Amino acid sequence: MPEITFLGTGTSNGIPVIGCDCAVCRSTDPRDRRSRTSALVRYGGLSLLIDTATELRAQALANDIRHVDAVLMTHAHADHTGGFDDLRRFNELQQQHIPVYTDPITAGMLRERYAYTFSDQYPFYGGKPDLILHEIAGPFDILGQTVVPIPVLHGRLPITGFRFADLAYVTDAKEIPDTSLDLLQDLDVLVLNALRERSHPTHLSIAEAVEVIQTVRPRRAYLVHLSHETSHAEAETLLPAGIEVAWDGLTVATKST
Ligand SMILES: [Zn+2]
Ligand SMILES: [Zn+2]
Ligand SMILES: [Zn+2]
Repeated sequence: MPEITFLGTGTSNGIPVIGCDCAVCRSTDPRDRRSRTSALVRYGGLSLLIDTATELRAQALANDIRHVDAVLMTHAHADHTGGFDDLRRFNELQQQHIPVYTDPITAGMLRERYAYTFSDQYPFYGGKPDLILHEIAGPFDILGQTVVPIPVLHGRLPITGFRFADLAYVTDAKEIPDTSLDLLQDLDVLVLNALRERSHPTHLSIAEAVEVIQTVRPRRAYLVHLSHETSHAEAETLLPAGIEVAWDGLTVATKST
């Protein structure tokens, strides 16, 4: 049933990196141009935006996104929240408040950083985002569709992935607890972060991501949140069959679609 469009697939700097002349940043392969990681999931008739990356406006234009039923936030790091203010255009288009779902830690950070988006002094839709923040603690429903949060560790910071029927989306993980691996069984498509070949304290490396994927055995997996250390073409040569590197603009539907 669900379908995912990768709006952005790059790590926090984006690719190309400002002022970098490396082979990946100078690559002519369009798949090596990566904006900050986020995605749109179409699920049971709903359009669900995962994170509001720095380039949200450009991503929405490139993918002709005109409607967002709800926003799901994985965590509050700047590369995943930088486009938060651009949600106001969807308020304007839809003439309604938009719900935001996230874990209590992320909710606290969003309230601090974007307090004005949750206060309702002038709800005229478009002047600022008008959002309703929902703190989640376990599976929740959005207009009748069930979403299962997947708790993971981003270094020491607990953050959240999301499962929509046979599709799961986990970004910025370094460690996935056993209880969360249990929540990733029987997937058609798993989206998982993989920063680069070398190890990193807060992100899975490519080899570590492959290990997680081989543990939960989805039918297909897609890697996101890549750095400029590995080109798309090089990264693909490191992967076993059934695991691919996502690119900005790619859409994938699960087999039950
Ligand atoms: Zn570079
Ligand atoms: Zn992060
Ligand atoms: Zn990130």
